Amino acid sequence: MADSRTPPDVDRAAASRRAVAARRERASLKRDVTTRVITPQDLLRRALADPDSAAGHMRVPEFLTAIPAIGDGKRDRILDELKISPVKRLGGLGARQRVDLQAFLDERLPEPAPRAGRSRLVVLAGPTAVGKGTVAQHIKEHHPEILLSVSATTRAPRPGEVDGEHYFFVDDAEFDRMVEAGELLEHATVHNKYRYGTPRGPIDAALADGRTVLLEIDLQGARQVRAAAPDATLVFLLPPSWDELVNRLVGRGTEDDEERARRLRTAKVELASQGEFDFRVVNDTVPRAAAEVAALAR
Ligand code: 5GP
Repeated sequence: MADSRTPPDVDRAAASRRAVAARRERASLKRDVTTRVITPQDLLRRALADPDSAAGHMRVPEFLTAIPAIGDGKRDRILDELKISPVKRLGGLGARQRVDLQAFLDERLPEPAPRAGRSRLVVLAGPTAVGKGTVAQHIKEHHPEILLSVSATTRAPRPGEVDGEHYFFVDDAEFDRMVEAGELLEHATVHNKYRYGTPRGPIDAALADGRTVLLEIDLQGARQVRAAAPDATLVFLLPPSWDELVNRLVGRGTEDDEERARRLRTAKVELASQGEFDFRVVNDTVPRAAAEVAALAR
């Protein structure tokens, strides 16, 4: 008769596979904190909500050093100050320790608060490859009441792109003329290559008609809009995780290795700017993220 018990070496192999998977999951969460895809407070909330999750199993020192600007020395001082043992896991913190750690994070790393009194000029920005274009396109198709601004660019059309619909494709001389004539609300050179700019006329007309206008532009452009129209609604699109952003960047496959590495470095810098935005939306699925952005735009 077959032995119904699982042989111990199979047990051990399965347990070790589970341990490896759990370590990977914790490492991925730490990258999310380091790259600011999630705030430390987000991670702590997940850990406390489910102490058995990857977040819950993370040791407090690991958590602290994942936070940008906390090195080993600072980590030890914080643990001392909060009276937390270095072997403690986030999910196993005592009531007092939770409150103290939360207060510490809120004081040192305040989470961006939404601003009030925003206008109907909505800017959608976010890191490279997060899917801004796809979300904007979805909004265009499903929310005809919102005007998706058509930018001018000096880059050549890709197959299937239509002049005046996806972009106004112009040469350098025409772009210079638009800048000099003050026809652009903002303009920037993106990825050190081509110039992109937002024509002002159609936006002013739509806003005057009481319509909502959506700009899908890069970070430099978002900052210029903030300066030109301080009450604009700035929305930052986030990936569900850092690893997912890397997947999307690699999956797109339109860039060579050097270009990909450069875009990843850019994405890290871009993620660090999310505190300048009024709202953050996670692009987990396109229809859901698009619905959230459209609701903010109302
Ligand atoms: P693509 O060439 O792939 O269509 O766009 C490249 C980048 O240019 C995207 O990050 C997009 O957000 C940005 N972009 C598109 N239009 C504008 C614009 O009018 N102004 C600025 N600043 N960026 C833009």
